Amino acid sequence: MAGIVVVFDFDKTIIDCDSDNWVVDGLGATDLFNQLLPTMPWNSLMDRMMKELHSQGKTIEDIVEVLKRTPIHPRIVPAIKAAHALGCDLRIVSDANLFFIETILKHLGLQEYFSEINTNPGYVDEEGRVRISPFCDFTNSPHGCSLCPPNMCKSVIIERIQASTEGRKRMIYLGDGVGDYCPSLKLKEGDFVMPRKNFPLFDKICQNPLALKAEIHEWTDGEELEHILLNLINTIVVEESAAAQFITTDCKLQTISVSGHEAFPKALPVQQ
Ligand SMILES: [Mg+2]
Ligand SMILES: [Zn+2]
Repeated sequence: MAGIVVVFDFDKTIIDCDSDNWVVDGLGATDLFNQLLPTMPWNSLMDRMMKELHSQGKTIEDIVEVLKRTPIHPRIVPAIKAAHALGCDLRIVSDANLFFIETILKHLGLQEYFSEINTNPGYVDEEGRVRISPFCDFTNSPHGCSLCPPNMCKSVIIERIQASTEGRKRMIYLGDGVGDYCPSLKLKEGDFVMPRKNFPLFDKICQNPLALKAEIHEWTDGEELEHILLNLINTIVVEESAAAQFITTDCKLQTISVSGHEAFPKALPVQQ
């Protein structure tokens, strides 16, 4: 297992749209959504939209069908599978919701590839309606970060992952949105951030690249994402195996000096 954690944002990073907007638009509820948008927080609005759609007779199957049509670049799935095959620990940190993400991952055959999905809770209730709630209970225990929306500061998750790996794993973070800026600032030296070029995260990073300790590698589409991500992983793997070899050599030298040459088996004569 490589000592690499790859953290993916979901909307406009793994998939090529915003899943919330995709569902709302796909079920013809854009006007109501825009009308309610100024009146309530995003998660409450999405929960309300699911209620409206349910009362209009839209079923879970209708929502699933829309989610199955979510646009995704053809190189994203192979990129994720290749990163996994190289031994990386893959995780999702997203401000979408669990029901949408799991439905799409299942459709793409990717649900086994991620060790963790951190997102707003989303499930189907007993009446067959999707319920969506905020990741962070901002009334009772606000995260207190001024950079992030009240329902989610992705840094809280990144710092937990960093603490759980005790800083032994290198991190590659991929994202596009403003909500990905705060966690990018938490990345350490030796880590990498892959912002989507000309999207809000990239623009924010460009304002002051020195604010980040991580190395910056931008990408435009799934093909570039695949190429850059796999290159970074391979570079880290080569670096790590070189470091491991150095340690092994060092230990052998120590053994020689302690036990002497006699401890080693005699060299076999080379066949002529
Ligand atoms: Mg995004
Ligand atoms: Zn934050």
